[in-house]
Amino acid sequence: MGYQAAENRYENMKYRRSGKSGLLLPEISLGLWHNFGDKDSMATQKAILRRAFDLGVTHFDLANNYGPPYGSAEKNFGIHFARDFAKYRDELIISTKVGYDMWPGPYGEWGSRKYLLASLDQSLSRMGLDYVDIFYSHRYDPNTPLEETMGALATAVHSGKALYAGVSNYDAQQTRAAKEILASKGVTLLINQPRYSMFDRTAESSLFDTLGIEGVGSIVFSPLAQGLLTDRYLSGSIPKNSRASRNHFLKAQEISEEYRVHANALNQIAANRGQTLSQLALSWVLRQPTVTSALIGASSVKQLEQNLATLSSPKLSLEELKLIEPHAIHGLVLRR
Ligand code: NDP
Repeated sequence: MGYQAAENRYENMKYRRSGKSGLLLPEISLGLWHNFGDKDSMATQKAILRRAFDLGVTHFDLANNYGPPYGSAEKNFGIHFARDFAKYRDELIISTKVGYDMWPGPYGEWGSRKYLLASLDQSLSRMGLDYVDIFYSHRYDPNTPLEETMGALATAVHSGKALYAGVSNYDAQQTRAAKEILASKGVTLLINQPRYSMFDRTAESSLFDTLGIEGVGSIVFSPLAQGLLTDRYLSGSIPKNSRASRNHFLKAQEISEEYRVHANALNQIAANRGQTLSQLALSWVLRQPTVTSALIGASSVKQLEQNLATLSSPKLSLEELKLIEPHAIHGLVLRR
């Protein structure tokens, strides 16, 4: 009889409006950057996706080159989608991106119209979809006129292959310019996807203000600093199968003595309010009114459930925010 989504799936999730658009996103969304490639268990992938949707996570975020190998997260998602989620298509927001290296030669990365539109067709074909909900320019390309990159996003929307346009890793000025060009082509910039966590507060310097003024939403990636803001590395050692043990995106040298001191202090603040460190980290990014959604990763159902339980925690008090501040500020310095 196959997968039937939980009937109470909308009871506990909260949804926020993306900027001034009509689109609501769950406060916590699930990204498929890691844990959905060809080396990752299909059974675990299936369990994570089903549990997420059962708990009200309506948004799954992908990119052309997620894997490894590149394209495999989209291909695997397509398998799960066809089996479990096709009948729920209108309840789902599925995004993909284009901008980083994907295929060899001059047309397989950055921001040309040639790359963006070919990549979108490839993504749709791998996922078995007629359209994505959000199509992103994954990074700003200093060597391609922004007019061309935004023109390709507008074409994607006008052709019906994407419902909304987004940008990722664009700073405040680039976002303003992108929004203006898209508007001239009759397309609204829905959202920006920046990195943001207690250990990377770059978005606070001017991006969030700009997004608020421009009415653009934000979905913040790596809110757990890829696992540094969880109990994974609190002892200072690197557990087997953790991201730091598996790939180069999280380097072993980041688990320094300095890191350990600050992460354990934050963990204590979390414990004092009955949370885990990952829950504190999520409460903290969600305290920002301009943040529409926190975009997490999870390598198990247990992690996913723990993270989603954040949404029943009380808001952070001013006093708690003050206690967090020195450790969060220090984290920023650490990661630069
Ligand atoms: P997180 O900061 O949420 O890190 C997720 C990782 O932390 C998990 O894979 C897991 O790693 C560990 N973890 C999560 N929850 C727990 C828990 N409760 N206890 C212990 N460990 C936990 O986010 P990601 O870095 O994965 O990024 C999330 C998404 O953001 C991506 O999938 C992608 O969609 C998007 N993204 C976008 C980028 C962009 O340029 N636009 C760049 C990067 C990400 P472990 O394997 O150790 O278990």
